[in-house]
Amino acid sequence: MKETLTAGLQRLEIQLPEERVDAIVRFGALVLEKNKVMNLTAITDPVQAAELHLLDSLSLLKVLPPAGKSLLDLGTGAGFPGVPLKLAEPTIRLTLLDSLQKRMRWLETEALPELGVEARFLAGRAEDFAREHREKFDLVTSRAVARLDLLCELCLPFVHRGGYFLAMKGAQAEEELHEAAKAIRLLGGSYERTEEFEIGGAVHSVIVIHKTGKTPEQYPRSWARMKQKPL
Ligand code: SAH
Repeated sequence: MKETLTAGLQRLEIQLPEERVDAIVRFGALVLEKNKVMNLTAITDPVQAAELHLLDSLSLLKVLPPAGKSLLDLGTGAGFPGVPLKLAEPTIRLTLLDSLQKRMRWLETEALPELGVEARFLAGRAEDFAREHREKFDLVTSRAVARLDLLCELCLPFVHRGGYFLAMKGAQAEEELHEAAKAIRLLGGSYERTEEFEIGGAVHSVIVIHKTGKTPEQYPRSWARMKQKPL
């Protein structure tokens, strides 16, 4: 894993001290190890994990410098992209959110203590946390959680004015962005740009949305309502 990650970081021109790269690789190994007994990821090959989990997460370092920022990773699953980012940039104030209790418990009680990493854990649905943690974060990240129009309703309420939502998408980014244009506007966001990275032989896109306004109080609605009637 380390060789693949190091080569990938060089290719993306991301410089990290070796001990941080080691810690990130260690986290990748912990995920693969636990994946044998708990469903964490479909990826079981270390080379693929290095590219598609670790390097893909770290590509966000090229999009916005997260040093010193409060960052919410919404739908973090086994910790992507939030945990590799925190290991790369320890000054990030990291919050991980996911509705799957088992994954969150593993991160909170096993993986992160083993790496000596501090984070806050919100175990539950994003819709339910959005009131208490409204407009509290500098950055919100999300990968492989929902289509962009729905994802904006889940994520943008958490971003404070002036902050950013970074949505990690694949090749279909352009189409999702088109579908989400109205949602972004209604939720107080403003599309800024899309950054593309070639990772594991495919194009990975990061959609950058700036929070320029306020999210109206009625959002997010219930998940059922969102799905039934996307903005
Ligand atoms: N971001 C990780 C995990 C993707 S799988 C990665 O890229 O590897 C999607 C995750 O989002 C699952 O763990 C699921 O539990 C979580 N999720 C989906 N909708 C959610 C919601 N509304 N609130 C909280 N978590 C959600």
